[in-house]
Amino acid sequence: MTNGPRFRFAPSPTGSFHVGGARTALHNWALARRLGGTFVLRIEDTDEARNRPEWTQGIIDALAWIGISADDPHFEGPHFQSEYAAAHVAAAHRLFEQGDAYYCDLSGEQIQERAKELGLSGYDGHSRDRGLGPGPGRVLRFRVPDGITVVNDLVRGEVSFENSTIEDFVLLRGNGTPVFLIANVVDDIEMGITHVVRAEEHLPNTPKQQMLWQALGHEPPQWAHVPVLVNEQRKKLSKRRDKVALEQYRDEGFLADAMVNYLMTLGWTPPGAEESGSEIASWPEIEAAFRLEDVTHSPAFFDVKKLAAFNGDYIRMMPLDEFIERAGAELPIEWDRARFTAIAPHIQERLTTLTEVPDKVDFLFWPDDSPIEYDEASWDKAFAADWARPLLDDVLEAYGAIAEWNADALKVALEDVMARYELKLGKAQAPVRVAVTGRSVGPPLFESLEVLGRYETLRRLSDANERAAARAG
Ligand code: GLU
Repeated sequence: MTNGPRFRFAPSPTGSFHVGGARTALHNWALARRLGGTFVLRIEDTDEARNRPEWTQGIIDALAWIGISADDPHFEGPHFQSEYAAAHVAAAHRLFEQGDAYYCDLSGEQIQERAKELGLSGYDGHSRDRGLGPGPGRVLRFRVPDGITVVNDLVRGEVSFENSTIEDFVLLRGNGTPVFLIANVVDDIEMGITHVVRAEEHLPNTPKQQMLWQALGHEPPQWAHVPVLVNEQRKKLSKRRDKVALEQYRDEGFLADAMVNYLMTLGWTPPGAEESGSEIASWPEIEAAFRLEDVTHSPAFFDVKKLAAFNGDYIRMMPLDEFIERAGAELPIEWDRARFTAIAPHIQERLTTLTEVPDKVDFLFWPDDSPIEYDEASWDKAFAADWARPLLDDVLEAYGAIAEWNADALKVALEDVMARYELKLGKAQAPVRVAVTGRSVGPPLFESLEVLGRYETLRRLSDANERAAARAG
């Protein structure tokens, strides 16, 4: 524990871990660490119908994946909101005793009827002065004072709310259980939270919560509401419509460093990005520079393509050894590691995620003499021209005569052959590639052939030749 400012991340364990939540967690983490403060993890698990304990572990694992480690001295928790239920109720009762809250026995329908009659959109304060005490089915409501509530927000500046637009909101339900608004405030007070940094969607709650802080005798915290994440259609990211689960990106081979860096660019620009044109920044650079005052107000586009580009950049930045180790972990156990090590430098340049690796290099690991499964569309395209079959024949002959089996010699030999057909390399490579790999795209051809070796290369060229002949015939 430290004595600095106290931040918190307060997710509800109601499903997979949302990328927006991950960004909020990172904002809090960056500030807690830079300012020598504490990051409190509080699991808001009071909604029993929707919570499941395994999701709590999912949150902790997801946080660890993005570098928010429970072992770090700045980390505190997890605390569980459900363990503080008595304090939430006690605070609500205190507000009642102070006269800041009152009981109301109107049903939902009665409230609606009254609202209709009076031309209001919500509750009209009917029970404010009826002097009701607690009782079954009676809700406890906060008595919203007259005036204006000014929320001081580090991202948005001063945001004013007319109290007349805020109805007397519920603190305890008819069955006596506290609602989110008060539970969240009481926990923040109890946990000594100084900064509430969270998503913009909570801004409408903030004036109500600020009133609660004050009514409970505390200075409100420093607020900050960071912009929502939206999809390509500028709609708020949703679980149903968009890919929002952090775990899914992790499982698809996205790298934690790339994800963290990308999330931090949503609504904020890393230092030096404007001059260099690159938003790539390491976590220490981000942590040293991140300030809420520099976060934009407008919604941030969560662009999966841009994330993929970041990921490709991070893969390219990996030292080769690390790349071999991490990409190698994606391969089936029986694939020869030495062979993968030989091709690895030639594929590192072209990846978006590490999980793509097996499909890119599988042709190097097919057992000797096994039949090739050609992609028919690739085959048809590569062998459409008249020159393709004779060229393959000549390549087979030239390759059979190569003394030193290496990429340079393989390239020179193909160039010699293609000159006779007046072809360019791109075209002349196509039938060779399809013959050997079964498809039209893949790692650099000559390096692949070098790794595949003389025997299998010649065998595959010869098989393809026969097939082409049979088809032509
Ligand atoms: N449990 C709330 C949520 O998941 C967090 C509220 C807050 O950060 O104050 O949205």
